[in-house]
Amino acid sequence: MACPQFFERLIVRNIGSSVYWLETSKHNPRPSLAHAIEVDVAIVGAGFTGLWTAYQLLNAQPGLRVALLEGEEVGFGASGRNGGFAMTLLDMSLTHLRRNHGDSGARSAHLAVADSIDEMGATIASHNIECEWVRGGLLVVGTNRAQMQRVESDYRTSEALDLAGFELLSGSETRAQLDSPTYLGALAEEHCAVVHPAKLANGLAAVVEELGATIYEHTPMSSISEHGGRLHIATHGGMVSAEQVVLATNAWASTTPWFKSKVVPLYTYIALTEPLSEEQWETIGWQQRQGVEDKRNFVHYYRRTDDGRILWGGSDGIIYPGGKIKARYDRGETVFKRLDKTFRHTFPQLDNVRFSHTWGGPVAITASFMPMFGTLLEGRLHYGLGYNGHGVAPSHTGGKILRDKVLGKTSELTELCFVDSREAAFPPEPLRWITAELTRRSLLRQDASMDAGKLNGAMDPLLLRAMKKFS
Ligand SMILES: Cc1cc2nc3c(=O)[nH]c(=O)nc-3n(C[C@H](O)[C@H](O)[C@H](O)COP(=O)(O)OP(=O)(O)OC[C@H]3O[C@@H](n4cnc5c(N)ncnc54)[C@H](O)[C@@H]3O)c2cc1C
Repeated sequence: MACPQFFERLIVRNIGSSVYWLETSKHNPRPSLAHAIEVDVAIVGAGFTGLWTAYQLLNAQPGLRVALLEGEEVGFGASGRNGGFAMTLLDMSLTHLRRNHGDSGARSAHLAVADSIDEMGATIASHNIECEWVRGGLLVVGTNRAQMQRVESDYRTSEALDLAGFELLSGSETRAQLDSPTYLGALAEEHCAVVHPAKLANGLAAVVEELGATIYEHTPMSSISEHGGRLHIATHGGMVSAEQVVLATNAWASTTPWFKSKVVPLYTYIALTEPLSEEQWETIGWQQRQGVEDKRNFVHYYRRTDDGRILWGGSDGIIYPGGKIKARYDRGETVFKRLDKTFRHTFPQLDNVRFSHTWGGPVAITASFMPMFGTLLEGRLHYGLGYNGHGVAPSHTGGKILRDKVLGKTSELTELCFVDSREAAFPPEPLRWITAELTRRSLLRQDASMDAGKLNGAMDPLLLRAMKKFS
């Protein structure tokens, strides 16, 4: 007969279902747009991409009339609900970035995002944004031999690209920093910080307002049209006439005609523990408060919070039929169960720790696994999206790219390999969903076979061929 603890565990492990970050940050409500306005630049979406773009634009050109239109509230999207890792990752790994974009393309893209992490820290400090920014670095751990091959391959790539700040750690060196019996070794990267993402979004919103931007909340763009040399955005209650528009709606861009075939929303999920006691922390270490990821295709990512919890995310991702985005998809029971299991497998010392919160949200997946920046509508509509689940730092780089695009400047940033590049497309529905789902399953299968000891750390060749076909 099952013991009482078994039933207790079943009931108590997942006791919450709200976005802890949104719950623990102060949000100042803003009015929705209820009339017609004329601005120089309208930014659609008030997540990190929209907010950093406004920040960069107003610093470059004070006095510019900038309005942000947010369909819900500042930080409602992925920006207010992510793991809070500001990291350099682009493409599936540094190795993939180099393979797909060459030495020079990979090096400049990586360095641009690394610079962003430095600049984010400096901006947060100079504006006193209280957002629990901790620059503790990143540990990319290998938990089986195939994952270790990937770790080592990224290390060799960092050497080949002459990138500073990477160190290969043995199993015991890794476990001395954070103690899990599953670790075989790790790649430590200096360029990574963890942050309270909703506090950063709310803090940044206040800063851009001080700089002169106006933010309208509960103001979804319903259509956009061009006439008289300007763009016109219709919202439920108002109208915006703008010289230029920046589309910063990430996963939601998949609902627009331009990005329907270029972006698939994938839901990723997070579980958060209750605060650990000092004794519990002592059993695992983690004094440096690094962000941690493993080397699965569907990574596990985890970090400490300021109030002593562990945020545990990843493990799987779900594309819902038709690539739809719906509030009810914020709950992903199957994934939560898997998160619970992998947490306890990784830290058996913490088997009695309970989860207090669980939530999820949509990220934007592109066929190339790279972000997309470009311009449409004869130079008036600029977009930056498709971060494939790691846009916290790249959205800062994106803000600078979009600033340069709006101001008509060519710069090193507008020459990066993911700007104005030929964007790979997914096939039309229902093939789009089927392809994306088959890809997801294939990646999960590979994760399982690697866990079972197979040494196929490279991606499934069939899958790579399929991805190439549609790109
Ligand atoms: C659970 C989860 C964990 C993640 N963890 C990490 C991590 O640890 N590190 C990392 O780098 N990345 C992570 N990401 C990804 C990261 O959060 C995103 O890449 C990044 O926040 C994208 O920012 P954004 O501003 O482009 O998009 P969003 O933050 O999604 O903002 C888009 C905004 O557009 C608004 N919008 C949509 N349609 C309209 C419309 N028609 N009119 C007006 N407004 C509209 C939305 O309401 C939303 O607020 C995670 C994402 C999720 C969901």
